[in-house]
Amino acid sequence: MNNNRSASAREALPFFFGLLRKTSRTPHLRRVDPAISISPNPLVNALGWVIGLVVACGIVVINSETHTDLAPTILYITLLLMAANLFSINVVISIALMCIVLLTAIFLYNGGYQRWDSTTGFFRCLTALSAITFLALRSKYAADRLRHNEVYLLGAQRLSRTGSVGFRGDSERMTWSDEAARIFECALSESPTVSMVLARTHPDDLPLAHEVFAKAARGEALIEVRHRLLMPDGRIKHIHMIASPLFEQHERCEYIGALMDVTATREAEAALFCAQAQLAHVTRVTSLGELAASIAHEVNQPLTAITSSGEACRRWLDRPAPDLPEALQALDRIIASAGRASDVISRIRALSRKSDPLRQHESLDDIVSETLGLVQQELAHHKIRPTVELAAHGRLVDVDRVQLQQVIINLIINACHAMDAVKVRDRLLHVRTWVADNEAMVEVADRGMGIAPEVMNALFTPFFTTKDSGLGMGLSICRSIIDFHGGRIWATSTPGHGTSLRFALPVLLPESTNSAGTALTHSMETS
Ligand code: ADP
Repeated sequence: MNNNRSASAREALPFFFGLLRKTSRTPHLRRVDPAISISPNPLVNALGWVIGLVVACGIVVINSETHTDLAPTILYITLLLMAANLFSINVVISIALMCIVLLTAIFLYNGGYQRWDSTTGFFRCLTALSAITFLALRSKYAADRLRHNEVYLLGAQRLSRTGSVGFRGDSERMTWSDEAARIFECALSESPTVSMVLARTHPDDLPLAHEVFAKAARGEALIEVRHRLLMPDGRIKHIHMIASPLFEQHERCEYIGALMDVTATREAEAALFCAQAQLAHVTRVTSLGELAASIAHEVNQPLTAITSSGEACRRWLDRPAPDLPEALQALDRIIASAGRASDVISRIRALSRKSDPLRQHESLDDIVSETLGLVQQELAHHKIRPTVELAAHGRLVDVDRVQLQQVIINLIINACHAMDAVKVRDRLLHVRTWVADNEAMVEVADRGMGIAPEVMNALFTPFFTTKDSGLGMGLSICRSIIDFHGGRIWATSTPGHGTSLRFALPVLLPESTNSAGTALTHSMETS
């Protein structure tokens, strides 16, 4: 009993403090039009006042005609309950006090206190009125809190563009919040169904949407899907939904899901990707400028071969008895050299071209050796002796060839710069590829000055550079390219003894390779 009393006292305290907070609220803030209104409809409000007045008049008439307290008390209670439904807590408290004062005034005015039965009747009515006032205020307070919570939830849903949906795997009917209806751009009054959701889904993503309901039918613990909606006017919306079974009814799970409109995020990601691609292009063209000597050399070699084969061909034809077979061989050499020159030029054009990434199945070893061809003269210029170990055995990776070449060129140019400060005989560069745990690995290791441990963490941060003329974008772009290909890149360094930069990419068509035993090792001595 005592426990019950203290429990109701515990409940009553926050209730009355809540009332105090409400009554002391300051209404001086600038008025803004709220998105969600919790005030009752003005028409209902006006109607409430009219009925209230009619009931009040009824009380006055009954009081003047009868001398019992019971009939007016019932009307007071009716008035109070109506007020609790229609008006704010302050108004309800005022009406309750007014009713009690009126009841007491009429009791005193009629001289009811002179008779024992009317005095007890008055106190019975007063107790009933007070108790009902307390209960009405309590339920009003709880209803207000509930409504406020609901409004917060609705507001948060609207601000975060997140709606909630409820569905089952075996039922066409669904439920959704107003925000979910807004995301699907359906009328709030319409009852949602699975067919409505499927009708809004982008035709290419329909299998994804069907899979959601199939998973729900199988009773999976977590359902997550990202798909597109196609609006009637052709707009595309990107949706991310996560759902899990919330409760079970008649052995069937009801899923509750959070549905987010991530269109703005996806558009921002696409813009970022585009900006990164433009930046990568600019830095690629910049490094091409740095490789100008190598490129000129690469193109010059076949041109020299063309000139000498052309001269030989001329001599074979210029004889009194022209040696046609020799001349034809010289012509074949000219054609082959022209082909080589054209290959070099198209590789360079591909590097300087600005195009969207095109991922294809490529041999990692081919890409690395082709890139080394482009930087050969640069290595010679820096007096660097490279050794190359290609042991990925033609394993294929799904990459954009030009982007991967850009990564390797960046790493080699950095290695060249790092070795400028060391003696010529120590300028060694080791480039190797191998396969480990279904990853194709590339390493560019130098014997340069190394990287100080305190800057190691900043290495891949945009604009981090220790060079006077550096931009600090090279490694950052390398990382975004490798990330885009689902790989990882990292550096290890021993200050004063060199640096190793490695990256790993997922390999396609996994097959067992003995990388150590069959490694193709050769060295390219620079001239
Ligand atoms: P930048 O070359 O324009 O400085 P990067 O992003 O390519 O920009 O490199 C950032 C920094 O990382 C360089 O300034 C350098 O300090 C360090 N770094 C990169 N590669 C090496 C390397 N192989 N050896 C030593 N330091 C390196």
